[in-house]
Amino acid sequence: MTVVGTASVGTDDRTFEETVERDRTGAIQLFKRYPVAFVRGSGSRLWDSAGKEYLDFLMGIGVCGLGHCHPRVVAAVQMQVETLMHVTNLFYIPSQATLVEMLHERSGGYLTYLSNSGSEANECALKLAKKYGQMHGGRWQIITALNSFHGRTIGTISATGQEKVRKGFGPLLPGFTHVPYNDLHAIRQAITPETAAVMLEVVHAESSNIIAAPGYLEGVRRLCDEQGVLLIFDEVQTGIARSGSLFAWQLYGVRPDIFTLAKALGNGVPVSACLGLPEVASAFQPGDHGGTYGGNPVACAAAIAVLETIDDEKVLDSVRASGKFFLDRLHAMTERHPLIKEVRGVGLILALELNRPVAKDVVADALAHGFVINATTETTIRLRPALNVQPEEIDRGLEMLEEAIVRTEDGKRRMKDEG
Ligand code: PMP
Repeated sequence: MTVVGTASVGTDDRTFEETVERDRTGAIQLFKRYPVAFVRGSGSRLWDSAGKEYLDFLMGIGVCGLGHCHPRVVAAVQMQVETLMHVTNLFYIPSQATLVEMLHERSGGYLTYLSNSGSEANECALKLAKKYGQMHGGRWQIITALNSFHGRTIGTISATGQEKVRKGFGPLLPGFTHVPYNDLHAIRQAITPETAAVMLEVVHAESSNIIAAPGYLEGVRRLCDEQGVLLIFDEVQTGIARSGSLFAWQLYGVRPDIFTLAKALGNGVPVSACLGLPEVASAFQPGDHGGTYGGNPVACAAAIAVLETIDDEKVLDSVRASGKFFLDRLHAMTERHPLIKEVRGVGLILALELNRPVAKDVVADALAHGFVINATTETTIRLRPALNVQPEEIDRGLEMLEEAIVRTEDGKRRMKDEG
């Protein structure tokens, strides 16, 4: 353990109870946390403050796509940290220029603005759509989907189609309309001469893992083209190889005008991106948008290492192969357990939909037995294994998942019998 002043880096030899106490003392209590503190990670493994090992199929909600502490990302960050940590966007930043060029090549010509979180990337997307819309007929309204999730800033909760996220923060921004997902007719009805953009996720990854139905995104693209409306994809969670393509829109062959990335782009180092087609991005003039940290050299070093590793380690191939293997095995599990209603997945964006609201019980049981997953609704269990998860890890994870389901089913049955 390296100790710097009073801050400990890496493992922490204070007890878990002390950590909880300090958090309660100092933090605004915004998170319902599970009773575990992880202090070390490697690949798909985590260790908690008591030294217990876990298999992680959540990966920081899809952030550590290449596994915890991937050596190439660690080396790139270490080298950058020792060389130069921060300047400002008043100057050219070589690693930033490299990263935006790599994204330009990989996306087939988009221009990038870099920031630090998914919400920030989406804020940029909304601002860009509004600026472009104002310049093309005074358009300013945005259509998004019910049950979508776009972030926690005022702009992005205005966009988000979940009441629990919006409640208590009104009045929110005007001009947002929420329509049912996978319903082309609803979008057609909602478009007005003042609509600037339709903003969608390719998978509703922060609710029930609903996936775009065949033909839906293509249909939305056509509608947008007909009506002079921009199409934005929020790929904060689906982007960076998780779908089996670098960007999920490539899977569908539907090019958005603007899309956003975050989570897996830095493998744990905060970095996000808003990408626009050049003719759209040119609506932004110098001074229209910006930020202190966006495109910081350390964040860019991490993201460059991530994109290079995805190529060099053929990560897209492994996501496609393990995604299919996973789905087959989960479907087989559905046959064995009446509790499982449905399996939803594309690539390694996977979820189980349950017949009863016990998703949180399954997750808590799994955690107690050393397996990390989470629940996005009362009935939805989310799985986000590492993009390079190994076959034996998939086997073990499926075994641990099934054991947690069986114990939850047994526990509920016993409670019912006794009650
Ligand atoms: N959009 C989507 C689809 C997300 O999944 C998230 C984060 N869960 C966000 C936006 C917001 O990202 P952040 O928490 O980094 O602001």
